[in-house]
Amino acid sequence: MLDWSVDIETYEAHEAQVGRFTVRRALPQRSRRTVGAWCFADHMGPADVTEGAGLDVGPHPHIGLQTVTWLLDGQALHKDTLGSEQVISPGQLNLMTAGNAVAHAEEATGHYRGRLEGIQLWVALPEATRHGEAAFEHHADLPRTELAHGAGDATVLVGEFGGAVSPARRDTALMGADLALRGRAVVPLDPSFEHALIVLRGAAAVGGVPLAPGKLAHVGIGTSELVLDVDGPARVMLLGGEPFPEPITMWWNFVARTHDEIDAAYASWRDEDGRFGRVTSTLPTIPAPAPPWLRP
Ligand code: MN
Repeated sequence: MLDWSVDIETYEAHEAQVGRFTVRRALPQRSRRTVGAWCFADHMGPADVTEGAGLDVGPHPHIGLQTVTWLLDGQALHKDTLGSEQVISPGQLNLMTAGNAVAHAEEATGHYRGRLEGIQLWVALPEATRHGEAAFEHHADLPRTELAHGAGDATVLVGEFGGAVSPARRDTALMGADLALRGRAVVPLDPSFEHALIVLRGAAAVGGVPLAPGKLAHVGIGTSELVLDVDGPARVMLLGGEPFPEPITMWWNFVARTHDEIDAAYASWRDEDGRFGRVTSTLPTIPAPAPPWLRP
């Protein structure tokens, strides 16, 4: 039975190039900038990597956001200006909080060869923490919860889902879970959150709307349950949060509120004035393009 009262809108991801990878960018959309505080979603791969050639995203800066890295397959090496050097594998979470400034690189591991597939998400930081200190967390073990009726299980990356709570930092009312589905699932939602579904593998239908990799479905607030129909194994990212109350300005790798803030971050990276620090990386540093409003 279809529940036509559920408010669902679908969007097409667009392709972009990140390092050596083509990604499906499901967020932001022109008419949908945020889902809760989630403001960016890149489904990366699958593609083949070697010991010496991985994602290969050289040092680049961030402000005002958190990066959430989650792999379905393979390994990648994260390095940042805090001195973090962390290999990530499937089932593990890398969470970097930029605050006022951080820079990082995503490299080959030096030992892994094979398939690499994952998703990198950004979370907009609220006013209370976006000017704060940078930080990095790695979570090797995250809580899992079984879905009802043997429909599959969920790993909780951020926030709470199905009674399981992630230990990962979150600065706003937010959740993220990876649903591994093998049958029709009834998915509980917090009705005070809006949600997004991004299918990473397989296919699923929600409220009669088919979803596959390359699409994003948005579910409005006021929905307390979703039915996901699958006809084979599927992996679905469920993202949710309270609608973000602050209008954000997002450009390149920066999440801010004004062009002036972005101009200042751009100038700091261009001039290497010390705000972002240095990443020890084998990859070349990525130069910031000039913001369009500064171009002659
Ligand atoms: Mn980055």
